Amino acid sequence: MSGGLRVTVTGGAGFIGSNLVSWLLREAAVGRITVVDDCSTGSTDLLGGDLAEVDFRCGSVLDADLMGRAVAGADAVVHLAALPSVPRSVKDPLASHHANATGTLQVLEAARRAGGPLVIAASSSSVYGAQPNLPKAEYDRPIPLSPYAVSKLAAEAYLGAYHACYGLPVLPLRFFNVYGPRQRAGHAYAAVVPAWIDAALHGRAVTVHGDGAQTRDLTCVDTVCQVITTAITGKVVSPWPVNLALGTRTSLLDLARVLGDVLGAPLRVEHTGPRPGDVTHSQADPSLLLNLFPDVRPVVLREGLERTVAWHRDRTARERG
Ligand code: NAD
Repeated sequence: MSGGLRVTVTGGAGFIGSNLVSWLLREAAVGRITVVDDCSTGSTDLLGGDLAEVDFRCGSVLDADLMGRAVAGADAVVHLAALPSVPRSVKDPLASHHANATGTLQVLEAARRAGGPLVIAASSSSVYGAQPNLPKAEYDRPIPLSPYAVSKLAAEAYLGAYHACYGLPVLPLRFFNVYGPRQRAGHAYAAVVPAWIDAALHGRAVTVHGDGAQTRDLTCVDTVCQVITTAITGKVVSPWPVNLALGTRTSLLDLARVLGDVLGAPLRVEHTGPRPGDVTHSQADPSLLLNLFPDVRPVVLREGLERTVAWHRDRTARERG
C-alpha cells in the first residue's frame, strides 16, 4: 500500500476492529493502516491474513509513547479499544475506567500532539441507562447505570472537550447491540447473538433472562464498518455524540425465532431470572445518523444473521477438524 489516507485503529484485533480493518483494506482511498491492540479481549487470529497487510503494534492505548508513535502522521484514528462489558465493569470498575476513559484521553492526547487527525471513537447505548424515553435521542439526558456506561460517557465527553478546547475534529459514535462475524462466544461476557448461535450449534439450550420481551436495536457490524469508513473518507465531524443504529426493535424472543429459521431448527429456550442492571428496551433515534450519513445501506437482520451463522459454522467445523 502507498499514498492514500493513513488510519490508526485501536482495538483492531477485536470483533468490530478486525472487521473494520478488512473494510479499510478494501477502501481505495485508504493507504496505510496501523493497529494498536493489547490483545486483552481480542486476538490477532481475528485479523487472519489481514495481519500481514497492516502495521500491528501490540500494546496498550495507555502507553503514551506507543500511542505517540502509532498516531504520528495519521489522517484518522478510529478508537475502538476498550474493556467492552457491563458485568466486567461491575466486577472491576477501575480496570474499565482505566482502559475506557483514561485510554480515550491518552488517544486524544496523542492525536492533539500529532497535529489533529480526525478521531472517531466508540461510545455505547449503555450511556442512556435509566433514561426512559424511546427511541433514545442524543439530546436525551444520559443516566448511566454501570461503571462501563460512565466510562463511555466520559470518553465521548472528552472528545467533545478536545473539539472545543483544541479544535480537534472528532466523531463520538454510540454503538447499540452490534453483532456479526468474528464476535466470539465461549467467554463469561459473550453478547447474546454469538452466545446463542454457539449454544445452538453445540446442541445446548439458549438462556433468556426474564420473559424475553426486552428489545434491542441490533446492528450488523458491516453497517458499523460502512459508517466508519464513510466518516473517514468524507471527514465527517460531530462534537455531539451520534447514535450508530437504525431504530430497529427486536425482542429476544423474535431474535430466537429468526435465528432458529436461519439455523434450520428452532432454538431450545430456557428462561432464568432477570439480570440486574439489564436495560428493558433499547432503540435508537437514527435521525442524526441519517442526516450525517444519508447514503448508509444497513444490513437487515436476517441477512446479518446468515453471515454470522456462516462464520460460526465455519469456525465450529475447523475446531472439530
Ligand atoms: P472487543 O473486545 O472484541 O474489542 C476490543 C479490543 O480492544 C480488543 O481487541 C482488546 O484486546 C482491545 N483492548 C482492550 N483494552 C485495550 C487497551 N488498553 N489497549 C489496547 N487495546 C485494548 O469488543 P468490540 O465488541 O469489538 O468493541 C469495540 C468497541 O465498541 C469498544 O469500545 C466497545 O466498548 C464498543 N461497543 C461495542 C458494542 C457491541 O455491541 N459489540 C456496543 C457498544 C459499544
